[in-house]
Amino acid sequence: MKLLIASHNKGKVAEFEKLLKPKGFDITSLIDYPELDEVEETGKTFEENARLKAETIAKELNCLCLSDDSGLSVPILDGEPGVFSARYAGEPSNDQKNIDKLLSKLEGYHGEDRAAFFSTCIVLAYPGRDSLVVEGRVDGLIAYEEHGDNGFGYDPIFIYELENKTFAELTSERKNQISHRAKAVMNLMNEMPEWLEEFKR
Ligand code: IMP
Repeated sequence: MKLLIASHNKGKVAEFEKLLKPKGFDITSLIDYPELDEVEETGKTFEENARLKAETIAKELNCLCLSDDSGLSVPILDGEPGVFSARYAGEPSNDQKNIDKLLSKLEGYHGEDRAAFFSTCIVLAYPGRDSLVVEGRVDGLIAYEEHGDNGFGYDPIFIYELENKTFAELTSERKNQISHRAKAVMNLMNEMPEWLEEFKR
């Protein structure tokens, strides 16, 4: 079965390909459709954005389409940076500036006030069908300063409390076992067979 990943991001496409090819999917992505414009992420939630991308492309190309949207949310800051995670300190997206902005907004906050979570929403869409929506979340605390060199984005300031390390101090293998994305993919794997059964009817 053909499945299109609604992303131009090579790393993301490779990650999904690795997971879904063994399940018998023939994977393509927006990298193969350079003439298609990026779908603008105008939603207020991760789900709205993931739906927007998956459902727009599914309709446009009349195909089975998967999209995801992720980010970091800090409850004491009313959920910031949330859907603005990539462009929190403005465009073009800059990880260091985003981290600096978040750390300065959290100055004066301590303990549980520095609680945060990463979340991912994955949407699988086909024209004329209700989409399959799955989520994954991992909780932690925002550090006072950066620690570790692995990963990307907010990893150097996100403390995974069970191991008392930031995501940037974990190996990529370990992060991929416990991350929001890993949990969302696990939920996708659990729920996809039933959704696909109905799809064939
Ligand atoms: P995307 O929707 O997966 O492209 O993620 C949007 C933004 O959220 C990224 O540019 C990062 O700033 C942040 N983000 C998402 N996942 C992670 C992660 O695993 N570690 C660090 N930052 C992340």
